[in-house]
Amino acid sequence: MASSGGAPGMDLISQGYWDGVTRNELVVQQCDGCGRLRHYPQHLCPGCQSSGCHHVSIAKSGTVHSWTISEHNFDTEIVQDVPYTLATVDICEGVRVLGRYVGIDEIRMGLSVILTFEPNHRGNLIPVFRST
Ligand SMILES: [Zn+2]
Repeated sequence: MASSGGAPGMDLISQGYWDGVTRNELVVQQCDGCGRLRHYPQHLCPGCQSSGCHHVSIAKSGTVHSWTISEHNFDTEIVQDVPYTLATVDICEGVRVLGRYVGIDEIRMGLSVILTFEPNHRGNLIPVFRST
């Protein structure tokens, strides 16, 4: 699952995630062996090494774990967005998700946020967090 400026790289492993994005749902893998939830999509469970999994839709709320402000233009198609804030968020069900932060509250560790999927300049849906 590659991403350059929000352009998704869909493959067989990430198909369930991207299908959820089109429904504005956060879909993650759940291991058939041990039940562990995991995100980003992976071939093997990091807990039990099982390759079996199914997809589940989980809540989109969580708290900010960390963040950075990108002040360098890595992609000419999003130059108008620079600088922008990227946050890693601990989702309540126990996975961590990376996305842009556009909330009105000053970002800080532990800030409660909600995830939506919104189109970028190319029309691709990307994860966006806002404070609650
Ligand atoms: Zn497992």
